[in-house]
Amino acid sequence: MSATCTVRQRRSSCRSVSSSATGEAATKYQGRSLCRYYDLPLWQRDNDKILRGYVRETGSFWKCLESLLYFHNETLNIYTHLIPGGTYLGLLMFFTDLVLIPHFPSTTMSDYIMINFYLLGAFLCLMCSSCFHCLKQHSQAHSDLWSKVDYMGIIVLISCSTVSLLYYGFHDYLFHFKIFTTAVVVLGSGCAAFVLNDRFNAKNWRPWRAAFFVLFGFSGIVPIVTGLVKFGIEESCKRVQLRFVMWEAVFYIGGALIYGFRLPEAFLPGKFDFVGHSHQIFHILVVLGSLCHFRALIGSYFFMHTGISSSHLLTLKVF
Ligand SMILES: [Zn+2]
Repeated sequence: MSATCTVRQRRSSCRSVSSSATGEAATKYQGRSLCRYYDLPLWQRDNDKILRGYVRETGSFWKCLESLLYFHNETLNIYTHLIPGGTYLGLLMFFTDLVLIPHFPSTTMSDYIMINFYLLGAFLCLMCSSCFHCLKQHSQAHSDLWSKVDYMGIIVLISCSTVSLLYYGFHDYLFHFKIFTTAVVVLGSGCAAFVLNDRFNAKNWRPWRAAFFVLFGFSGIVPIVTGLVKFGIEESCKRVQLRFVMWEAVFYIGGALIYGFRLPEAFLPGKFDFVGHSHQIFHILVVLGSLCHFRALIGSYFFMHTGISSSHLLTLKVF
């Protein structure tokens, strides 16, 4: 009972801060003016090392969309995933049909599904992220909702990445493929249940959020080690293009660390408000990691259909 009262009191106090701040916004922050961290309603405060450039709570879907047209501290967070997300949509629609199949008539339905499965995952992840960064200014309820959508997108990307690579690693060992794929589905479902829990979105869970997703990503090490034991280093490198998978891991882990420790703004608060703060770097590293995975898939595809290492890909003149 007392816990319920506390929650109610907290909610009403947040509402009063929020509504008074909105009233202030109507006079002081008209039009497209931006506000500072300590002028934000409490629910919008997340990173106290980013001091300026905030779009205050809009309460309007259209005003959130309108924020795409002017520069604020979420602009680069939105576009660093919106543009690559759109590019992945283009690849999803055209790449296999216009590039892969003409070069590899031996393409099977499984190949077709796996490549597009990954492209779909990358598209969904980046678009969910863009939507979150654009629409979280609407209200606390929308921010909480889109935050969950954002995390779900990451789970989808990790799952699609792992399953597509498992296919190329174990395409002729279906038992292994099924076992590891089942493990990904179970882990991904557990991760999703965790993400959909409201407690997960609390600010003090930031390091845990980063750690949790790194752990889920790291679960991909098990099939890689299995492949190394089963096929040896040389063949494993060719089957799943380990060089690119390693780069992918470096980008994702580096991005998660930068996000978790809020680098570089933790050392110079206010200096990276619009350009160069941790979330933007994290976004760029996620895109680079996803490109490494795509390159690994194409290399694996090439090896599977020709038996030649992917270093010959350059001679195709299509990459
Ligand atoms: Zn983000």
